[in-house]
Amino acid sequence: MSFDTSSWLAQARALIGPAHVLSADNGDDLTPYTRDWRGKFQGPALAVLRPGSTAEVQALVRLAARTGVALVPQGGNTGLCGASVPMAGGLQAVLQLGRLKRIREIDPENNTATVEAGCILQTLQEQAGAVGRLFPLSLGAEGSCQIGGNIATNAGGVQVLRYGNMRELVLGLEVVLPDGEILDLLRGLRKDNTGYDLKQLFIGAEGTLGIITAATVKLFSAPSAEVVAFAGVASIAQAVRLLGAMRGHLGDRFTAFELISGPAVALVRRYFPETPALLSGDWPWYVLMEAADGGSDETLREAVQAALMACLEDECLEDVTLAGNLAQGQTLWSLRENITHAQQMDGSNIKHDVSLPISRIPAFVEQMLPRLQQAFPGARPIVYGHLGDGNLHFNLSAPEGVEAGTWQAQTEAVNQVLHDVVVAMRGSISAEHGIGQLKRHEMAMYKTPAELALMRRIKQALDPQGLMNPGKVL
Ligand SMILES: Cc1cc2nc3c(=O)[nH]c(=O)nc-3n(C[C@H](O)[C@H](O)[C@H](O)COP(=O)(O)OP(=O)(O)OC[C@H]3O[C@@H](n4cnc5c(N)ncnc54)[C@H](O)[C@@H]3O)c2cc1C
Repeated sequence: MSFDTSSWLAQARALIGPAHVLSADNGDDLTPYTRDWRGKFQGPALAVLRPGSTAEVQALVRLAARTGVALVPQGGNTGLCGASVPMAGGLQAVLQLGRLKRIREIDPENNTATVEAGCILQTLQEQAGAVGRLFPLSLGAEGSCQIGGNIATNAGGVQVLRYGNMRELVLGLEVVLPDGEILDLLRGLRKDNTGYDLKQLFIGAEGTLGIITAATVKLFSAPSAEVVAFAGVASIAQAVRLLGAMRGHLGDRFTAFELISGPAVALVRRYFPETPALLSGDWPWYVLMEAADGGSDETLREAVQAALMACLEDECLEDVTLAGNLAQGQTLWSLRENITHAQQMDGSNIKHDVSLPISRIPAFVEQMLPRLQQAFPGARPIVYGHLGDGNLHFNLSAPEGVEAGTWQAQTEAVNQVLHDVVVAMRGSISAEHGIGQLKRHEMAMYKTPAELALMRRIKQALDPQGLMNPGKVL
């Protein structure tokens, strides 16, 4: 039986209103929803559906299940593994959650917020801040990524060291299951030992098991003092020693520890020439550190200064500067945040997002850099990442003059050189960005048969029709 697109669109329009169903035959440009942030993946969509409530999501999921149309959940479309856009083959519609953006409740006494999936991360940070609370997830895309996307990717960001990643920040979820049933797990409990922790299934599942419509997340007391420092180090081994020493000195006050290679800093300065020189000399590696607490700036600053002095004496760093105020702190952070944008502007690069036990990172980088140079002469490694979490973005920019298509054709070969070593050292090929369509084939190579079989059984149990974000993850 042939599929009647007009009738399907008419049914969708009747459910959520004509203005909220975008389609090509209506003259709508679907490209912003069907092409991913990096411009690497694009697929056809029957429509872009923009529901405004959980009930509307439920109605659309039921329509999709009845008619065999697959749904691709989408938040801010800032994901980096092609998971938020359709793939060729089969009937697919993008389910864009951006209208579902209410903050349903902020409960300062329980230190929780209950928020709809389409709420922009930065909006939640600001609203929590307005009542003296902190929502600590923080990442470069925070002005456009959404809480639902953050949960579906188990996002990490720059404060995992102190607060954990999204999995640790979510207390409850509301999910529309693939058959249209609403799973209400919106409990703001820190202790609940009543059987399987079902919400964990949907965190990091990249929209393959259901549509997240709302979440209850943890808040923390907003820090009243923050100090940011930027240090030059001679090697990654020295950076790892610095991490251990600073943690020892500052304990829980130590909130971020970001490693940035010399070439990454140079790239940012090339594309963002307003970036100031932060230290008097050049170093092969730099570290951006942050400490925060509920006391005064002055007291925290003294504690950080004392810790850094001790680290200098113990030869855990070579040179360091401390931001004098909030604006200077932001300048330091924008250097870190602009790396992704500078790489994007610089042209083609093959991205990696690996994690390893922190103690093994110096050995890993030491062997990877020459190995990659030998295998891919002229390739430019841009290495940076959340060293405090053992997470490195080990990106490889195209050799000068090599055209994007030619370089991207090397992706599998580059990945294999890098990921074979990561897995041999018991690391992960995806610490943050997820699998999507980018690493599906590789995940199948590196996970054990037992892990893969269990993942497939879970998928089959929840989504027997295979209509939730098909072709992603599994
Ligand atoms: C400049 C930049 C910096 C970044 N920095 C970081 C970083 O530091 N740490 C990090 O972890 N990531 C980072 N990312 C990646 C990205 O921002 C995160 O993965 C983010 O969490 C994705 O959110 P999103 O709303 O854009 O989701 P999308 O890209 O729209 O979707 C991502 C995945 O989630 C699914 N999804 C979205 N919404 C829902 C929902 N409501 N229900 C079910 N599934 C859903 C999609 O189907 C897809 O599989 C960065 C990206 C950019 C562009």
